[in-house]
Amino acid sequence: MNTEHYDVVIVGGGPAGLSAAIYAARAELRTVVLDKDPHAGALGMAHVIANYPGVRSDISGIELLDSMKSQAESFGAKFFREKVTGLDLSKREKNVFTASGKVFRAKALILATGSMGKSRKIKGEQELLGVGVSYCATCDAAFYKGQVVAVAGRTGEAVEEAKVLSRFAGKVYLLCPTSSFSAPSEMVEGLDFQPNIEVRYNQSIVAINGDKAVESLTIRGENAPLEVDGVFLYLSGSSPIIDYAGGQLDCVEESCLKIGADFSTSVPGVFAAGDILCKDIKQAIIVASEGCRAALYADKFLRGRSTAKMDYN
Ligand SMILES: Cc1cc2nc3c(=O)[nH]c(=O)nc-3n(C[C@H](O)[C@H](O)[C@H](O)COP(=O)(O)OP(=O)(O)OC[C@H]3O[C@@H](n4cnc5c(N)ncnc54)[C@H](O)[C@@H]3O)c2cc1C
Repeated sequence: MNTEHYDVVIVGGGPAGLSAAIYAARAELRTVVLDKDPHAGALGMAHVIANYPGVRSDISGIELLDSMKSQAESFGAKFFREKVTGLDLSKREKNVFTASGKVFRAKALILATGSMGKSRKIKGEQELLGVGVSYCATCDAAFYKGQVVAVAGRTGEAVEEAKVLSRFAGKVYLLCPTSSFSAPSEMVEGLDFQPNIEVRYNQSIVAINGDKAVESLTIRGENAPLEVDGVFLYLSGSSPIIDYAGGQLDCVEESCLKIGADFSTSVPGVFAAGDILCKDIKQAIIVASEGCRAALYADKFLRGRSTAKMDYN
């Protein structure tokens, strides 16, 4: 079997994994990033990233990832397009198995595979993603100034995202698919103070309509389509991608990895960063900082330091 040896193997080439690669490679650790497909990650799917500090406001997620990747390569990090299918964490050096049959052996491992994408169940959802269909109001609300949007979902996330949108959009329809929200009552009551949010209960979207961009929604049981410029979906939630770890890492609740302040998992030498960790706010800048910290703590682990070493001294 073909085995490659590295100081640090990073699984996942999103902003968390790439930021970790920049810091690990700059710390002169032999570093490799394994990524199955950058377009499959959350940032890779984002059409425009307007809020990442220091980059022009019309950059796409893939362009931002390419730029991070080049930076990591300039410090010596290697990249392979590989889907990781399994880990063996039982020994001091960890084995990472890929779908192509390769084995990467790591002195330290950083997991940064993000969280599971949405289910794309609604007719038109996939086709109009990025041109009116979004999963992130914090990311995209500013594109809908004065326009009409809908938010679909019954969770606290849906309620909070409707409030974020109400600061930008002229009108927000909050479409709850059931007769009540699953959010705390004080959160739902807060909707009363937002005059441009209209809450509609028992409203399920069966189709998202539009030619080049979202134009309207077909709602089950309603004759006329609801005309909107955009729709934000919070229907299926997301969960961390850790299936390939095969239950070797402790979780605090269902699929939420147990993590120390140094981003270490329950297995020494295995770290995790990014949306793979359960968190309230999912943003590129947050996961990039986690990738940086995971790499600096991996460096501390490998070199037996008492504290993490800054990159600049
Ligand atoms: C549509 C959309 C728009 C967004 N817009 C913004 C925005 O404007 N600004 C902002 O700050 N944030 C935005 N976000 C949020 C941001 O993209 C995420 O918080 C961030 O990308 C998470 O980074 P990550 O590195 O943890 O995971 P991801 O970016 O999801 O990257 C994970 C990587 O791991 C790879 N992977 C998964 N499983 C395996 C495996 N088994 N083997 C190998 N590789 C694997 C994936 O292919 C992917 O490349 C947006 C999210 C979405 C979904």
